[in-house]
Amino acid sequence: MKFDIVSRGDHRSNNIKSTMTQYLTDFDLEYSEEEPDLVISVGGDGTFLEAFHRYVHRLNETAFIGIHTGHLGFYADWMLEEVERLIIEIAKTPYQVIEYPILEVTIRSKTGKEEDRFLALNEATIKTAEGSVVFDVDIKGEHFETFRGDGLCISTPSGSTAYNKALGGAILHPSLEAIQLTEMASINNRVFRTIGSPMILPKHHTCLLKPIVDRSFLIAIDHFTQTYTNVKSIQCRVAKEKIRFARFRPFPFWNRVRDSFVTEGDRTKMDN
Ligand code: NAD
Repeated sequence: MKFDIVSRGDHRSNNIKSTMTQYLTDFDLEYSEEEPDLVISVGGDGTFLEAFHRYVHRLNETAFIGIHTGHLGFYADWMLEEVERLIIEIAKTPYQVIEYPILEVTIRSKTGKEEDRFLALNEATIKTAEGSVVFDVDIKGEHFETFRGDGLCISTPSGSTAYNKALGGAILHPSLEAIQLTEMASINNRVFRTIGSPMILPKHHTCLLKPIVDRSFLIAIDHFTQTYTNVKSIQCRVAKEKIRFARFRPFPFWNRVRDSFVTEGDRTKMDN
């Protein structure tokens, strides 16, 4: 089996990376930055997002796992004390693969020539530095509303605990193949009216945002933000691709939600 390790780059994460690389190669696993079957991120959720985007072109072949070297992460859910056990598990056992849905975003330009396609693990956000964003929101080919406000967040189920949660969105179990639209400070008065509630769209229900007022948009895909001008439309839907997590022990989604946001449970019971 081929593996790669993506480190946050701090001293501690780099040390874990070199120790793991040494042990795993001793166990006859092959280090490969080109074609890894398993990608181990060492750092936090930001490092995990970076690892995902580094290998986004080979999601069907690559499985991911995250070790946290700071505080508990949502994706980076293996603790430092567990690294030795994880090395042995990786070396000895075939792992189970758990798949979660991700988001596909297609940005089309008014010139009609350019089209950018992205996959997001957490979410896409659309904002502007020039006042409010104003766009028509179509759902499944029908006009739904005209949005005016700070922006919109379109999240995946596993990203529903990230930015989406801060915007008052619901937490979605990743077995649901869906995306969620949450508003950022929409303007609602007699002239402008939006639904005002987070909305959950199933697979194949495409959401199309069509700018009415020409702005320069700040479009973030997870942790990367780019500026776009001349935007004709931004299309969001559940992607055909999925992220694949390598699972060596059960850590149910709701336990992860509880441990991250409510109270840390007894991790020794996770094997039961
Ligand atoms: P960052 O360093 O600002 O970290 C943001 C926090 O989000 C970290 O604590 C991280 O652990 C947590 N996080 C990331 N993904 C998560 C998930 N799926 N569930 C629960 N928590 C999660 O930025 P970063 O590390 O580069 O991560 C980028 C992410 O930050 C974006 O994808 C976005 O979801 C999130 N973010 C959140 C807010 C907010 O909550 N107001 C604002 C901006 C960005």
